[in-house]
Amino acid sequence: MMRKGGAGSAACHETSRSSAPPAGVAESEWRDWGWQMRHRIRTADALREWIDPTPREIAAIAALAERFRFVITPYFASLMDPEDPDCPIRRQVVPSPDELGDPAGLADPLDEVAHSPVKNVIRVYPDRIAFCVNNECALYCRYCLRKRMVGEAGWRMQKRELEIALDWIARTPEIRDVLLTGGDPLVFSDARLEWLLKRLRAIPHVELIRLGTRLPVTLPFRVTEALCSMLERFHPIWLNTHFNHPKELTPDAAEACDRLLRAGIPVGNQSVLLKGVNDDPGVMKALCEGLVRMRVRPYYVYQAQLLEGTAHFRVAIEDGVSLFKGMRGRTTGFAIPRYVLDTPHGKVPLDHPFAKGRDGDDFVVEAWDGTIWREPNPR
Ligand SMILES: *Cc1c(COP(=O)(O)O)cnc(C)c1O
Ligand code: SF4
Repeated sequence: MMRKGGAGSAACHETSRSSAPPAGVAESEWRDWGWQMRHRIRTADALREWIDPTPREIAAIAALAERFRFVITPYFASLMDPEDPDCPIRRQVVPSPDELGDPAGLADPLDEVAHSPVKNVIRVYPDRIAFCVNNECALYCRYCLRKRMVGEAGWRMQKRELEIALDWIARTPEIRDVLLTGGDPLVFSDARLEWLLKRLRAIPHVELIRLGTRLPVTLPFRVTEALCSMLERFHPIWLNTHFNHPKELTPDAAEACDRLLRAGIPVGNQSVLLKGVNDDPGVMKALCEGLVRMRVRPYYVYQAQLLEGTAHFRVAIEDGVSLFKGMRGRTTGFAIPRYVLDTPHGKVPLDHPFAKGRDGDDFVVEAWDGTIWREPNPR
């Protein structure tokens, strides 16, 4: 059965239509996140129900069967263009042979393992940590920074290991901001997540809890009313999700973000700048403006790391700088995300330097349209 209903060949500037269950699947099943998790696509045959995989894609699936194999939710598969191998949704999740030919790529380019005081806690700043509570995701993004851990048994956190990390946080009073990430913390059941949040809230110096999750994008049905009303008991909670392309801004995804926002959870977005996905200025602008229409604030766009198997996704940094420079003045200020390079020493903004510096008694700046402005600035 070929389900070529998907998002069709919609132009990438269009906001996507609602996802629809394929023939034989009830609407109630399709919208049940448990059903989606149980019916994830993990084989070339299952993928054939959604798209016409190319011989290159089939070969890559076979070659990557052992390491960072592929997993896709039916919901996300329904957004793929069945005919176009360059579809930006497809490029993010279907393996490519390019992943095998990247000799410069590193397994852990941010040296996260060296920055872990206890398993799966990454600390590069004095006051905040990334806590990889889970090594599972709804689907696997081919460019994932944590592909060394996602789906790999050795990185799974047993409850005892979560306890060890919680004890470390409790013993480290400088930590005021805890970012729960992974993997994806929303792959946990509500009960497991509630246990974790309760334990964190019992630590007086933890002011802020943040969730880093791609589920509003890859499995929006996970964001149930029950989840949101549980989360809102642990405020202040902030959440960052990970939309990369305007085709992902479906009504289902917008509703998931709306449920979070109505529970008082500010929702931000972090993208990765990916060649052939969102490195076109029109696509990036459509993504950011679409996010703002959903009341989701574009926060960071990451430069793709020197990570194994991802050379085909990397954009030169100066091209990224000019892409974001070009947004300034041409759209809503808060629709413009900060372009950052993550390093073993933390995130470094790569924004274009509009401030040029002092010249005599003036401070010289460049406006969005290229005008040089001299602001009197006597010492
Ligand atoms: C990104 C990140 C944070 C949070 O950084 P913000 O700039 O505050 O959003 C914290 N710890 C680690 C290890 C990170 O990678
Ligand atoms: S959702 Fe995030 S952690 Fe999971 S595979 Fe994608 S990029 Fe990696």
